[in-house]
Amino acid sequence: MSGRLLIVSNRLPVTVSVSEHGGHPEVRASVGGLATGLRAPHEQSKGFWLGWPGQMSALDDAGRAEVQQQLEARRLVRVELTPEEVSVYYDRIANSVLWPVCHDRLDQLPLRVEGWDVYESVNARFADAVAAVWQPGDRIWVHDYHLMRAPALIRERIPSARIGFFLHIPFPTPEIFFALARRRWLVSGMLGADLIGFHTRRHRGHFAAAVHRLLDTNAHGNEFEHLGRRVRMGVFPMGVDAGDFARRAESEPVRTEAARLRRNGTGPLLVGIDRLDYSKGIPRRLLAVEQLLIKHPEWRERIRFTQIAVPSREGVRAYRKVREEVETLVGRINGMYAVPTWAPIHYVHRGVPRSLLIALYCAADVMVVTPVRDGMNLVAKEFVAARTDDDGVLVLSEFAGAAEELSEALIVNPYDVDETAEAMHTALIMAPDERAHRMRALRARVTTHDVARWAAEFLHALGE
Ligand code: UDP
Repeated sequence: MSGRLLIVSNRLPVTVSVSEHGGHPEVRASVGGLATGLRAPHEQSKGFWLGWPGQMSALDDAGRAEVQQQLEARRLVRVELTPEEVSVYYDRIANSVLWPVCHDRLDQLPLRVEGWDVYESVNARFADAVAAVWQPGDRIWVHDYHLMRAPALIRERIPSARIGFFLHIPFPTPEIFFALARRRWLVSGMLGADLIGFHTRRHRGHFAAAVHRLLDTNAHGNEFEHLGRRVRMGVFPMGVDAGDFARRAESEPVRTEAARLRRNGTGPLLVGIDRLDYSKGIPRRLLAVEQLLIKHPEWRERIRFTQIAVPSREGVRAYRKVREEVETLVGRINGMYAVPTWAPIHYVHRGVPRSLLIALYCAADVMVVTPVRDGMNLVAKEFVAARTDDDGVLVLSEFAGAAEELSEALIVNPYDVDETAEAMHTALIMAPDERAHRMRALRARVTTHDVARWAAEFLHALGE
């Protein structure tokens, strides 16, 4: 379908940085999944990407003008947010209320939830920004839980607009979602779209059940009738830029780094890579490593488990708590099992450069991806995409969206620490031909269903 594409997401797909010594601000493209997947449709359609560029208070007027110019050159439209708005709409509502509820963590809810008015006014600001650039024939694609109200608010401003909405995190079972006082209002916000996309059939089913119970509207197949309009739901599992991961995996610097990582060890390497988030299941994963050493002592002084934990949302108390928990466990387990020449866990509390990230994927004998709840989990797919050698074993939580597609992984219940430990052992002793057989099947899926295909399929469905 022709026509321009207007992409709407909380963050613009760039990072604005200002050097401490003054000078020109720098606008750099982000490497995240969404930024990569939508780059081509964004550039080809000559449309706009609307979002928040991050806090720019460190910039003077000249710096701001320069950033503005660079954003315009990339067809990016800045939605300005004050620090107070960011603290309520983003930190408090999106990350401290919607995130835990959608990841089944009612225990993380604040005792009193306040700030929905700011969430609404920020969503309305995004809708205004869309209305200011919209032309007949444009398609609008709104992303994620920061902007659940935006589809309805855009619809108020442009009744005939063609609007898609994609939820990148899980939609929980109604039993959990209904804990939110504003549940009907949130669902009605999403129903402003013509097409609502989810990663998995399960999330779509939960949403359909919530709509049925809140609005007494039954889905016919994948469709609802809402306020006289047809609203469709669809399942579009997001992929990764598999070609790029494969190319980088075969590049000289990554090969050299991967060889170094393997050489440095005393035996097999297990790897975990996550944002340090309570949904990622890192504490139980550490307990599973300990259990592996208890049940299978032959791995002592041999295996290494490297956990990259990227700092995340450090202003939110629950995140500081999970960090403490993880660091206490790492200390306890290493203290218990380490010898002067070896320690079971290498814990890295920082993000790593992309070349090292891919080298870790390539060097891993076992990739351990055990979130207790995850919308998709791109790390699992990136690992598979990078394994052009058809080797390496993926241990994957049944509660990651990716498990719906990656059934040749060793699928585990991350709450079952013993089962996870046994899966690690099974992965470590798996015969080479079985490893290759499984990895080839995983690669067939991940390389054909990449992020470009995900975007194309959603946009095709939106155009229908
Ligand atoms: N990642 C990164 N730097 C790191 C570690 C990870 O940029 O040091 C990236 C990783 O490549 C992946 C993303 O962070 O694309 C994590 O995505 P995922 O869907 O697994 O989890 P999310 O953080 O979105 O919940």
